[in-house]
Amino acid sequence: MAMKWRIGEVTVTKIVELEVTGGSRFILPQATPDAILPIGWLQPDFADERGRLRMSIHALVVETPTRRIVVDTCLGNDKENRRIPTWNKLQTSFLADLAAAGYPRETIDTVVCTHLHVDHVGWNTMLMDDRWVPTFPNGRYLMGRIEFEHWTTQHEREDMAAVLADSVTPVCDAGLVDLVETGHRICEEISLVPTLGHTPGHVSVRITSRGEEALITGDFMHHPCQIARPEWSSTADSDPAEAAHTRQHVLTRLADTSILVIGTHFAGRTAGRVVRDGEAFRLE
Ligand SMILES: [Zn+2]
Repeated sequence: MAMKWRIGEVTVTKIVELEVTGGSRFILPQATPDAILPIGWLQPDFADERGRLRMSIHALVVETPTRRIVVDTCLGNDKENRRIPTWNKLQTSFLADLAAAGYPRETIDTVVCTHLHVDHVGWNTMLMDDRWVPTFPNGRYLMGRIEFEHWTTQHEREDMAAVLADSVTPVCDAGLVDLVETGHRICEEISLVPTLGHTPGHVSVRITSRGEEALITGDFMHHPCQIARPEWSSTADSDPAEAAHTRQHVLTRLADTSILVIGTHFAGRTAGRVVRDGEAFRLE
């Protein structure tokens, strides 16, 4: 059964592509077992008893009374030339799981990429007869204008060129992409919020309905350990200082409110509320 949350009239459903324990030091080098074990609340959902991080790659389906939105499209099947060896030629049951949760791909009307990194655009496309075709043919794909311009005019890493070629260009060529600003409102309940630093045009997704509120993080935080240690930036952050500033700022705003925080890479229970904890915060 897929994990679900309700925010007023909106439902958010988690569709998991991959969940891994350990091996994430490359992304958060400061999160050593010795640094993680003292943050007791991370266990068992977000770290194991040896202090190794648990991380997840999942999509979040946001259903409002009028829209069916997929936020971030994971890695995708059959992709090649990925920097992380295990992210190549995946064969997961993601699309079957999406359909089993009640969301066949043809019924999705909106796709949101919080940013254009490899693990957020993969299922934008799927391989059919040796061609990359849009996975969600009836959807508008919303990509940040700043984000899009950044990656299409300069991609310093070779693997980013592969990502653009198989997961971004085909949906552009199909005429399905709308470039939007970082504060874009999608519908009454859903809007984008700029959370810059991880990438130049990175956004989170704000949900409000009937007095309730939630925030889908995207990658302004990769792991809940950054709630306890907001100063820990990830190696994938394009501007580590700005990313740390964004975390501190957003966590301060979220702390001790009823806003549900739903993590884009948070494993286990994936969501919770931020509360103050000494100098920093924790997820309850
Ligand atoms: Zn990511």
